[in-house]
Amino acid sequence: MNDPLAVLQKYYGYSSFRPGQRELIEAAVSGRDVLGVLPTGGGKSICYQIPALLLPGLCIVISPLISLMHDQVMHLQKRHIKAACITSELKRPELLSVLHLAERGVLKLLYVSPERLMTKDFAAFSKKADISLLVVDEAHSISMWGHEFRPSYLRIRDYIDSLPVRPVTAAYTATAAPRVREEIRTSLGLKDPFEYTASFDRPNLYYEVRHTADKRAALLSLLPAYKGFSGIVYCLTRRSATALTRYLNAEGIPAVCYHAGMSAKDRQQHQELWMQGDVPVIVATNAFGMGIDKPDVRFVIHYQMPGSPEHYYQEAGRAGRDGKRSDCILLYSDRDLKANRFFINRTRSAVLRAAMEQQLDAMRRYAGGHSCLRRYLLAYFGEIPSSDTAGDSCHSCSVCLRFNLIPKALPAGTEDHALYRSLVSVRSRLSAKHHVLPYKILSDAALHDLASLRPESFFDFLLMEHTPFFKGIKYGADFLTEIRAWNASH
Ligand code: ADP
Repeated sequence: MNDPLAVLQKYYGYSSFRPGQRELIEAAVSGRDVLGVLPTGGGKSICYQIPALLLPGLCIVISPLISLMHDQVMHLQKRHIKAACITSELKRPELLSVLHLAERGVLKLLYVSPERLMTKDFAAFSKKADISLLVVDEAHSISMWGHEFRPSYLRIRDYIDSLPVRPVTAAYTATAAPRVREEIRTSLGLKDPFEYTASFDRPNLYYEVRHTADKRAALLSLLPAYKGFSGIVYCLTRRSATALTRYLNAEGIPAVCYHAGMSAKDRQQHQELWMQGDVPVIVATNAFGMGIDKPDVRFVIHYQMPGSPEHYYQEAGRAGRDGKRSDCILLYSDRDLKANRFFINRTRSAVLRAAMEQQLDAMRRYAGGHSCLRRYLLAYFGEIPSSDTAGDSCHSCSVCLRFNLIPKALPAGTEDHALYRSLVSVRSRLSAKHHVLPYKILSDAALHDLASLRPESFFDFLLMEHTPFFKGIKYGADFLTEIRAWNASH
C-alpha cells in the first residue's frame, strides 16, 4: 500500500484529508524536508504518521511532553500501528528492550524527548538503526521567540548530523510567527523544505478585551451568561488560580482548579469532572490544556493577561473546537503588565528577556484594543486576512462591535454595573453573616434586576421576578439601603 489516502482510510477510518495534510505527507514521502504550521486540532499527527507508515525503516518523533507521547502511542496502538515511547520512567533494561525492538524494525514510530537524543544508549542505537524520518513536534520550542523555549531543542541539529544517513526531517508546530519559522528552518538545517501554513483564522470565535480594575466583579458579571456551558478561566499564577476557585465556589459557582502544583491525582480528577461537564468551569494556569480535546468549550476567559500572543492565541483557541460560536475574553488591568514583568525579571538570559519584553508589548497592544482584535492576531502570525475579514470590521470582536452598540445604552449599562457590584458585596456580607451560600440569598439574575430597576420600597422589591417573598423579608432591608443610597447620590 503506497497511497496516502488508502492508508488514511485503512488505519484511521477517515474519508478525506484536511487542508494541507496530503501535500505535507506527499512531500515527506518523496524525500523532501517539511515544515508544517497547523492550528491545534488541525491534524498534525497524521501528517507524519502516514509518511512513517509509507517509508521503510523507523520514524523518530521528538516530543516535549511525556503525557503527549503516551497519548499518541496509545492512539497508534489502538490503530494497530507499532509505536512506543522512551520516557524517563523506563528503567535501563526496559529502555534497551524498546531500542532493540526499534532496531530490529518491529516499531514504525518511536517517541523520545529532545534530552534523550544525546544519551549514550540512544546515540549508540541511532548509529545502527534505519531511521528514515525524523519529526520535530512542537517545533516552536526551538525558538527563544516562541512561547515554550526548550534549550535542548537547539541540539537536535547535532543529533541529525551525528547520524550515518540523514533522514527526511519534518518540523511541526501549531504556532509560529514568521520569525519563529525562520529560526526553525535554520536551527534544524532544513533543506529546501516544503512548507504549509494553514489559516489561523477561527471565524467562530468572538474576541473581546475588557478593561477592569475589579476582575472578580467583571468575571461574576460574565459567568451567568454561560450558565450550563463549559469554559476555562486562565490565571497567570497557581496562587491566583487557587484563590479564584475558592472565591467562585463561595459565590455559588461550581468550579475546579488545575495547576502544576497540585497532585497528579487531583489534577486528573478535576480535569475529568470538567471534561464530563459535571463541573462547568475550570480555573487553571497555562499548565492546563495541552492535549485536551473537549470540543464544546463555549468560553475561555483570561483573568490575567498572558505574556505573549502565542500563549493567548493557543489558550483562547481551546474554545469552540466544534465550530460553534464561542467567546474569548481577556480581562485586562495595568497590573497585568507588572505581573508579567515579574516572570520576565526572573529569567536569566538577557536575550530571552528581550524576546519576552517584545511579546509582552505585543500583548499590551492587543489589550489596548485600537484595531480589530482578530486581524491583529492574524497579522501577528504573519497571515494576511482572507477576503471576508479584509474589510474594516470582522463583526466578531469587541473592537469591531463597539461601534455597533446603541451609544445611550452604554452609560446606563455601566451605572447598572457599578450598582450591581455594590449589591454583590452586600450579598457577600450577608452570606458571611448568615453562613449561607451567596446564591441562596439572592440569585445573580435578582441582583441584575435590582441594579437596573432600582426599587426603593419593600413593596416594589417583593414584586420583582427573582426576589422570593421570604428572602425579601429576611434580606431585603440591606439591599434596599444600598439602592436608596445609590439613587440619592446619582
Ligand atoms: P493536532 O496535533 O494538530 O492538534 P491531531 O493530530 O491531534 O491535531 O488531530 C486532531 C483530531 O482530528 C484527531 O482526533 C484526529 O484523529 C482528527 N483528524 C485528523 N485528520 C483528520 C482527517 N483527515 N479527517 C478527520 N479527522 C481527522
